[in-house]
Amino acid sequence: MFQVEVWGGAGEHGRSCYYVQFEQRAVLLDCGVKKGQEEMYPLLDAAKARELSCVFLSHAHEDHSMAIPLLYRDGYTGVVWTTRSTAQQLDNYFASWQRYVEDAGYELPYTKEHIEQVRYRFVEDMASPGQWFTIEPGLQACWGPSGHLAGSIWLLLKNDGKTLFYSGDYSPDSKLLISDLPSPEYVHDLPFAILDAAYADDETGQEQLLKEFVATCERVLKQGGHVWLPVPRFGRGHELIQIVAETFPDTQIVCDERLEQGFQTLFEEELWLKSESVVPYKEMWSSRVQVLSQEQIRQKSVGSDKTIFLTADPMLQSKDASNLLEAFQNKPENAIILTGHVYPGTCAARLLAEEEPGVQVIRHRYKIHQGLPEVTRMLDQLKPKTTLLVHSPKEKTDRLQAKLVAQGYKNIVSCTPGDRIVID
Ligand SMILES: [Zn+2]
Ligand SMILES: [Zn+2]
Repeated sequence: MFQVEVWGGAGEHGRSCYYVQFEQRAVLLDCGVKKGQEEMYPLLDAAKARELSCVFLSHAHEDHSMAIPLLYRDGYTGVVWTTRSTAQQLDNYFASWQRYVEDAGYELPYTKEHIEQVRYRFVEDMASPGQWFTIEPGLQACWGPSGHLAGSIWLLLKNDGKTLFYSGDYSPDSKLLISDLPSPEYVHDLPFAILDAAYADDETGQEQLLKEFVATCERVLKQGGHVWLPVPRFGRGHELIQIVAETFPDTQIVCDERLEQGFQTLFEEELWLKSESVVPYKEMWSSRVQVLSQEQIRQKSVGSDKTIFLTADPMLQSKDASNLLEAFQNKPENAIILTGHVYPGTCAARLLAEEEPGVQVIRHRYKIHQGLPEVTRMLDQLKPKTTLLVHSPKEKTDRLQAKLVAQGYKNIVSCTPGDRIVID
């Protein structure tokens, strides 16, 4: 028997944190934060945190990682198992989370010392993807790429014969990043799985979404406007660049220096990349992408050469973003296309809510998570006895649960933080 306590991340978007209590030990899966006014941190239990055997971190995004120093503040002294690539990306996330918290008028609940106390160990030093390795006697782990971000992984844990699968954030649709799943014999009779269901019961596939995205870009450019894609430093921006470069061969593509750094980091370690895409991607980048400073981007945006801009600030929170926004708002033909989750209280959310933002603000999702088709595929492959759907508001995972149950899937759980699931 084991229990899973949701400390965050189920029934909501953000602060992913799952406490897994086996008979003789407990582990934690992720420890993230949530942007917004309330409930920014997981429901941590200091006494339980101190007793953890270890912590696993699936990837660098703040909604999985930025509350980890709280564990050390509360007296945890163990290690955080992750990938080297994830650990390297975290400095940027710590800096931007601190900025976000302070700009929102709050105080960071941990110090630089707590961040420095975090001890990382790397799963790739222990075993190749898809192979078991021993964490401590009685506890084994297995990992593989999840296609969501460079360094992002799924995890399989085995404690005294009881196995648990955690998808992390998972995308089978990436054009650049590899993803796989554990081999069938490892998940035979799988008691429990925690699955990324950020897009809940949405059935739209990536191809359809891309068609709609490309059509919008085409319309804006034809009408003489520029397109601005605010994206994270790592992740979907690099895939979107490739798509617009291929689709609009006569349009200039400009990115900022932060996105360029993200590109350099991505290609430093090819472990996460689809090998066939590496050479064409690098060629595309050097021949098509112009890297400019923030000021040069602002100047170019008031010019008439039709251009697609990509900047590494998805919620438009920085001073650079507000400068560019001011320039962009001079021309109603210009369009800002938001391709990811829009967090409440951010500049991007405010723009979306404005009746006359002075510029077109359009949403097009680029999938880096799972919705109904991908969750179904994962259930068919892993056949877990009990499945917890996470990464989406409760009313949405309820809808997904209802659809899955109607299709014949059993023991599908939709819940909220504070809930506990007991697995026999
Ligand atoms: Zn993520
Ligand atoms: Zn996430």
